[in-house]
Amino acid sequence: MTAPTTDPRSLVPRLPQLRLLVGGRFVAPRDGGTLPVVNPATGEKICDAPAAGAADVDDAVRAARRAFDDGPWRTMSARERGKLIRRLADLLWARREEFALVESMNNGKTFREAMRGDVGPGAACLAHFSEEPVRIRGEVLPVDGPFHTYVVREPVGVVGAIVPWNYPTSLMCWKLGPALAAGCAVVLKPSELTPLTALKLGELSLEAGLPPGVLNVLPGYGDPAGEAIARHPGVDKVSFTGSIRTARRLVAASGETNLKKLTLELGGKSPQIVFPDADLEQAITACLWGIFGNKGETCNAGSRVLVHARGYDAFVAALAERARALRVGDPLDPATEMGSQISRRQLDTVLGFVRSGREQGARLLAGGERDVDGAKARGFFLRPAVFADVRPDMVIAQEEIFGPVVSCLRFEDEAEAVAVANGTRYGLAAAIWTADVARAHALARRIQAGVVWVNCFNEFDDAAPFGGFKESGWGRDLSHHALDGFLQLKAVWTKLPG
Ligand code: NAD
Repeated sequence: MTAPTTDPRSLVPRLPQLRLLVGGRFVAPRDGGTLPVVNPATGEKICDAPAAGAADVDDAVRAARRAFDDGPWRTMSARERGKLIRRLADLLWARREEFALVESMNNGKTFREAMRGDVGPGAACLAHFSEEPVRIRGEVLPVDGPFHTYVVREPVGVVGAIVPWNYPTSLMCWKLGPALAAGCAVVLKPSELTPLTALKLGELSLEAGLPPGVLNVLPGYGDPAGEAIARHPGVDKVSFTGSIRTARRLVAASGETNLKKLTLELGGKSPQIVFPDADLEQAITACLWGIFGNKGETCNAGSRVLVHARGYDAFVAALAERARALRVGDPLDPATEMGSQISRRQLDTVLGFVRSGREQGARLLAGGERDVDGAKARGFFLRPAVFADVRPDMVIAQEEIFGPVVSCLRFEDEAEAVAVANGTRYGLAAAIWTADVARAHALARRIQAGVVWVNCFNEFDDAAPFGGFKESGWGRDLSHHALDGFLQLKAVWTKLPG
């Protein structure tokens, strides 16, 4: 992946068609609903986007059903389906700067992060899954009796893809890649905070030649648009990324309606466990970016740093010093290292956690206050916060803060490290820093998390599954395991003569 060559401020963002994409056409919401799209770095409104209501969801699901049940998508060869997904990937890659600019302006992440951490990986994910359709194979079974029995793998049908605002482009591609590769039709609902790139991708899907109705894009609020998707009998599966709170509603909605299948990618409180024999310079850098990258608004953020008592004080002091030196500011300035939080609400939530940390007796070594320097006063900027002497039972050690706040805890031995690491309701990711290979593998087995990184952090590949243990989720994104989540098995029995 190459670095951006253009100064983002020289690019003029092309806004998408500000209409819902339903059945291959851009249409206004039936009730004329809109939602304001804000640049969190300036507090200014970028535009109004359309907001779908329940009637629009119904239209989109019908369009998706037609595309799935009767349309060319179903009868198209696997190779052809792969080619169309590849074309979409290539179009996204060709427009990556434009997408990244919109993402940066709408989310507050730096342009560099938007390019390298969001839009680039999104295009790569679509390209990866474009190669999967031809690999979807069945099997012939050695059953008893005079039968020819085989299994085919069929798409689950119409998929509702509901995604959050923190990595808008890559997360929608994580859903679309495997869903489209499997042959499903999709109703995509981006977050109400970041609806623009989903609409832009909708435009590209038509340009790529996806049949009408295969991808429908409905910006809108969780309620009513998300709820309507979750409760619609024409939706066979919802693939969701977001909060545990919303996930519980999706589970209830599925149970109360058609038992639609669910994949849930939820929050985390990922520990980075640092032993004294680790390469401490590398560990400090990884702990820094593990929490302050994307301004802490990352599901697998390393929001807990567990350091062995021997070396704890020096480690947290060095981490705090690096945090204080981070450049917080204009997301479009190439020198900026941390942009703006997504919204006023998120900023206030994070400040509330900082207050709670102080009240419960943790020691704030750096940051933790709003950054109102110069033009930053108009936006939602925070100074990166490092808490030391955090106890495992404190709120800031248990709850996902989803902002630039790291809680540093001390441990005496491996048993304590494992107990603390596993001592939350989450189980998304973890990291172990040590030079002792045997210890790393032994600990990796005992950590309850869907991803364990050893002497590295935040490594992703489309071939590697991503998802959570415990309340961090159900199912997996990425890899052929994600593809499996959009397929179902059908056993076909034929009685042979004689
Ligand atoms: P959220 O749950 O508030 O919203 C996510 C999406 O769900 C949005 O599109 C929203 O409109 C929709 N939604 C809200 N209420 C709904 C309802 N009642 N029915 C249906 N849809 C509804 O989450 P968020 O604040 O946008 O995102 C932050 C959360 O996402 C964090 O907890 C973070 O950890 C998680 N996340 C997880 C991963 C992962 O892969 N595990 C990745 C990124 C973010």
